Amino acid sequence: MNGVLGNFARLSHFNYDQNGKDWNVNTGRQQSPVALTTAKAVKSTASELIFINYNKALSRPLKLTNNGHTLKMSIPCAEDCSQPAVCGCKLKSIYKAVQLHFHWGSPEKKGSEHSINCTRYDAELHIIHQNIAYALKENALCSWDGFVVLAIMVNIVECPTLKPRVLNEVFNKSRFVRNFNKTSTIEGTFSLSDILAGVKCTEFFTYKGLQVKSSSQMDAVIALYILGSLTAPPCAEVVNWYVFPKPVEVLKTNLQNLWLLADDRGKPLRNNYRLLQSLNNRTVYYRTENAT
Ligand SMILES: [Zn+2]
Repeated sequence: MNGVLGNFARLSHFNYDQNGKDWNVNTGRQQSPVALTTAKAVKSTASELIFINYNKALSRPLKLTNNGHTLKMSIPCAEDCSQPAVCGCKLKSIYKAVQLHFHWGSPEKKGSEHSINCTRYDAELHIIHQNIAYALKENALCSWDGFVVLAIMVNIVECPTLKPRVLNEVFNKSRFVRNFNKTSTIEGTFSLSDILAGVKCTEFFTYKGLQVKSSSQMDAVIALYILGSLTAPPCAEVVNWYVFPKPVEVLKTNLQNLWLLADDRGKPLRNNYRLLQSLNNRTVYYRTENAT
């Protein structure tokens, strides 16, 4: 625990020059992102994710920040003080939405982190949820079941079938936070469901495994879940990933605003994605709409 916390200050100075190859992180065998393939995935029979208070307007102010690594927005409670969260789908707890941020590429490169059927998309949105069993982020960061992250692919097309209003507003607003540490307030309000407009929430990939260990106490055999990790330092292995494969379509004029952000060195903040990691002994599951 202290090791993870003690590394925070040093790890906050990472950059994406080598897409994570040069990060000095203690990585194990449960790292993310990974390549996801429908044909190789095991069909999941899990129930749907349940979205709690996702349709409620978030309280203001909604603040966008350039933290030098990404464009992020802390997720406040809803206007009625309820907390947007997810549960269901074999999750043993409720996970409250705490933050969202993006990974993107450049005019030359795609920027999603996970790949779907050998395809990478132009950007990937992460909505971070923290297990309500842990009051402090620091405690969740030290617990295998600390976080659930929803990953949404974003793709540039010439004629989007549906123009995602809120995503486009966030992209356009990023021109006010081009420099490191800049913050800007989004006018108006929206719900997290608005952010998910166009996402087929019943179809997703997850990846996990079971590691069976014999416990020295009581001669018992214990089964430990192995899941995924944060994709930025400290890359802690504390994330249960849900990756929605159907991309949200946006216009280039909207997404390209992200390419103009700068990092804490004043360099273009582009290609802020981590390279694919080995799946190791984890199984990829794919849930389709008619799973149950
Ligand atoms: Zn992320």
